[in-house]
Amino acid sequence: MTPATDSSGTPSSRARSSPLWPSAASAVVGVIGDPVRHSLSPLLHNAAFGAMGLDWVSVAFEVPQGRLPEALSGTRALGIVGLSVTHPHKDSAARTVDEQSELARTLGAVNCVTLRDGKLMGDSTDGEGFLRALRRGAGFDPEGRCCVVVGAGGAARAVVLSLARAGASDVVVVNRTRERALGAARLAGDVGRVGSERDIEDADLVVQATPLGMVGSSAEPAVEPGVFRPGQLAVDLVYRPADTPFIHAAQERGARTLGGIGMLVHQAALAIEKWTGAEAPVETMWEAALAAGDYPSN
Ligand code: NAP
Repeated sequence: MTPATDSSGTPSSRARSSPLWPSAASAVVGVIGDPVRHSLSPLLHNAAFGAMGLDWVSVAFEVPQGRLPEALSGTRALGIVGLSVTHPHKDSAARTVDEQSELARTLGAVNCVTLRDGKLMGDSTDGEGFLRALRRGAGFDPEGRCCVVVGAGGAARAVVLSLARAGASDVVVVNRTRERALGAARLAGDVGRVGSERDIEDADLVVQATPLGMVGSSAEPAVEPGVFRPGQLAVDLVYRPADTPFIHAAQERGARTLGGIGMLVHQAALAIEKWTGAEAPVETMWEAALAAGDYPSN
């Protein structure tokens, strides 16, 4: 993998030699969103850079909706070597970068930007981060399994596509707005369809991909609490708090559960690998995430 480059076109793989870190020589990456001050991404990135001995630093950039193109021009001019892109900028980033991966083009969303040879390259690490979290956190392989995804926004679309590509037998999208549900289900091709909460009964995997239950968002349940059963895996993409109403309801009905922190860690690790060209220290990033709050270690 080719590492990212700074504004001079130099591969930014410099080692951290001075205890005075960060310094004027440090390579800069960041997370861009609004709101973004709650983000754990800089913490995860900086923990990784420390363990890798890299003279890199990650910070958060709060950029209002509509100003992403301006911010990305600045990114190029400043030689910021990588950006994680979060709400509300993923769609705008897909329209603004110089080149996109096939995955980002299919999703119409970019959550990871890398400056390479003066060009902004857009990719999406949400789906692969989700699959890795499923494997590591629950030993779950979607191949041949029936999956329900609640929500049809950017995160849900990445999950739908990744589940279909991982061989799920059914990918059922349940969403408030039917038009968006149709768009998300289409990403799963032959195995995708729009459904309702009744489909949860037959599902092996149920993924909650709306902001409901998130700190600062509505605490109303994303699905009716009685829909779960033992033998299912229920995954909430929300990671703050760890114990959402969705997770709580699933546990009450005997389903296994997984919170969103694993997906966050794994998509951040994939971003680090794109930027640096080196393997990310996932265990160190997990420890940093767990130390930052009262998360269950799954
Ligand atoms: P988004 O693009 O804004 O989509 C939000 C989705 O939630 C839409 O389908 C929307 O339905 C639905 N929704 C919102 N409010 C609702 C309500 N009151 N009742 C029913 N449905 C509602 O958001 P996103 O980027 O996909 O993010 C969704 C969640 O995933 C957020 O909590 C985010 O933090 C989390 N996330 C976690 C990770 C991770 O690494 N763990 C990564 C990405 C996202 P309509 O279509 O009807 O508007």
